[in-house]
Amino acid sequence: MKVPIIMTPGPTMVRANVRLARAEETTNPDIDLSFYDFYEDTCLKMANILKTHNQVRILSGEGILGLEAACASLTEKDDRVLIIENGVFGEGFGDFVKIYGGKPVYFRGDRKHKINLEDLKFFLEKDSNFKYATVVHCDTPSGVLNEIDKICPLLKEKGILTVVDSVAAMGGEELRVDDWNIDIVIGGSQKCLSAPPGLTILSISKDAFDVMENRKTQIASFYCNILNWRDYYKDKWFPYTPPISDIMGIRRAVENILEEKDILDRHMKIAKATREAIVSSGLELHTYDGYSNTVTVFNVPKNLDDKKVRKYMVDNFNVMIAGSFDYLDGKVLRIGHMGENARVHTVSYTLVALQKSLEMYGVKFKKDMAEVFFKEMEGCGIIIP
Ligand SMILES: *Cc1c(COP(=O)(O)O)cnc(C)c1O
Repeated sequence: MKVPIIMTPGPTMVRANVRLARAEETTNPDIDLSFYDFYEDTCLKMANILKTHNQVRILSGEGILGLEAACASLTEKDDRVLIIENGVFGEGFGDFVKIYGGKPVYFRGDRKHKINLEDLKFFLEKDSNFKYATVVHCDTPSGVLNEIDKICPLLKEKGILTVVDSVAAMGGEELRVDDWNIDIVIGGSQKCLSAPPGLTILSISKDAFDVMENRKTQIASFYCNILNWRDYYKDKWFPYTPPISDIMGIRRAVENILEEKDILDRHMKIAKATREAIVSSGLELHTYDGYSNTVTVFNVPKNLDDKKVRKYMVDNFNVMIAGSFDYLDGKVLRIGHMGENARVHTVSYTLVALQKSLEMYGVKFKKDMAEVFFKEMEGCGIIIP
């Protein structure tokens, strides 16, 4: 299989030491008690990244499992759940709530803007009778970044539990779970953490565990039951055999992040330079604000087929960027500068490939994107290898 440079908003590139960690010989993770310590220690390192004292669990399944597990574990029949949405993933939370018998109530934001805090405050003044609320940190199809640092404390003030999908932001955007009052935050291995797809990471507050514990009805799932995971260490029991090679891989990826001096600063500088290159060359960023430092989303130039451009990029430059889906299908292109992707050499090469490919299809550029990008990076005083 020929592997392109995957500059997509997940899955991202995986560093060699993570790939090698997954190839190591393994023990029986159910029976060998030393694995419980290894797993616990990996969760603690993850908690360090999340700035939390809450319990962290790493479950076997893609990010979607984390989203569904949060909804399955919290929702009882007829529970009112506030779905704060300004994008595809934001709205999708409502479907999980329905599956488990809850009643989603939507707070709909403008999809070209981050969630408006004043509007949300106004809404909550009138109605705040919700068991929990869901919100997405970075809604990847549009790249919009929401201010969960302000949204979650606002919700908790009203006694509403907070559930945040940070799959596309965790590890690349600031995330302070304790300071920001996030009851459940969900991440995925294949985005900024730069491990292969297959794992979801959750931190769970005491308030969230208490609500699960005090349900009137049983959680209507086994695989999505977070409560099953609460006492694994004390009981030396996992609900199912943990995917030990995946855990060894993510452990290494988490250590890579902790060993780096300032991974958020790297994301911030790369993202800012990428946006500057896009805008000054004459292309258009998709949203009007709320730019995530993990993905840059821009409009497909008029009368152009994004699939053709992307195919040209792969065929001629071996670089893969992403289109989008749902209401944005064919309308935007996305460069993922998450985790291992967020490097000067990979992003600059992607911009060269993108510009040459768009020029092939007749798009005119006001400036050379790679040149603008390099100038911005120099302005920051760093060139990261
Ligand atoms: C990637 C992602 C997920 C996981 O979904 P997949 O489409 O299965 O990769 C969940 N939420 C967000 C915001 C994501 O970016």
